[in-house]
This record gives sequence, structure tokens and C-alpha cells, in this order.
Amino acid sequence: MIQTLPATIPASLFEQRADAIVEAARELSELGWTPATSSNFSMRVDDAHAAITVSGKHKGRLGREDIMLIDLAGNAVGTDARPSAETALHTQIYRRWPQMQAVLHTHSRTQSVASRLYADDGVIRLQGWELQKAISGYHSHDSVLEIPVFPNTQHMPELVVRVDAWLDAGKPLHAYLIDGHGIYTWGRDMAETRRHLEALEFLLACELDLKQLRAS
Ligand SMILES: [Zn+2]
Repeated sequence: MIQTLPATIPASLFEQRADAIVEAARELSELGWTPATSSNFSMRVDDAHAAITVSGKHKGRLGREDIMLIDLAGNAVGTDARPSAETALHTQIYRRWPQMQAVLHTHSRTQSVASRLYADDGVIRLQGWELQKAISGYHSHDSVLEIPVFPNTQHMPELVVRVDAWLDAGKPLHAYLIDGHGIYTWGRDMAETRRHLEALEFLLACELDLKQLRAS
């Protein structure tokens, strides 16, 4: 893939973002959270652009050339590569929150099972777990961390509307699940976003274990 950069974006900046995405993708792939070329990852580049994984590549074997530039409307910039089908969900986060720098979307087994189990409720309410404190803004296990579960669709504008509606209702949002699909989370840098993703994976696994043990 040939990526031409606008004059306002230094090559070193784009490469730094691309390398951070490649590294995160490789590590998350090793955990088994990105099966069969699924999942997508992005980082903000500046006020108007983000770097995102191209569509359809194995996430454990990405190189810098598999990361492309998009504008915050989700259009390819300086390349004819095709961005991930779910690009609109990434750009939505960057448009809504100028401070957000990274968005990670994975399809782990735990995330997938939890999303189906709680789809009818439309939300997973986490409370009583020490690891909730890994989510920025949460300082106690006593607080309630709500992770909405939105219906899956191949039509991204529908999901964008659901995310907007949740936020416009004034509810905090640090992550969401899509039914039968996976999770989205974000943060002010890649490290914070990775911490959110790892904490949520752990918390969802705990909820699933607890539900199973209580039922047996
Ligand atoms: Zn997906």
C-alpha cells in the first residue's frame, strides 16, 4: 500500500502511530482476541486525521504498510487502500472527544459470549470488582460501571446513532459491546486504552464465571 501524507503530517508522526497500532495488534492477536482477521485498531494523528488498520488483514502479522490515514469522516486520505468496515465507530470517538487518542476493537470469546448473554438487558452492570478502578474516572469497587450492549448490524450508521443516543442521554461511556460481535473501548493514549481493554476482558470473564457458578 502506498500512503502519501498531507504536508501538515510529519512522516515520523504517522510512523509512530502506525508502529503503536501494529504492536498492540500483535499482542492482542497473541491473546486470541482477534480471530480470523477480525478486529480493528486506530490512533488519532491530529485534529482532523487518524491512522487505522486496513480491512481484512491478520492482526498478528501487520506491518506499517497495513496502517492507513483517514479523515474524521472516515474517508481514506492519500491512499486507495480500504479502511476497516467499522471505521465510522472509530471516527465517532475522535469527533466526540478531542482528548481521545486511541480506539481498540476486539472480538474475544469472552467479549462475544458476554455480549450475547446480556443482549436482552442491553447493558452489563459491573459493581464490586476491584479492577473497575482500572477504568479512568473510577476510584472505587463500589461504583457502578455500565457497559451497554448494542444490537449488531452491518449498517454502521445505526450503531453510530445508538452510541450518540447513549452519550446524549448524559450517561458515562468508556466502552460498549455489540451483540455477538465484540467490544469497543478507547483512551487518552494507547497505554490507557490497552488497560481499559484488559480490565474489561477480565471483568467480563469474572461476570460469566460467576453467572455459571451461581447457576450450577
Ligand atoms: Zn468487529
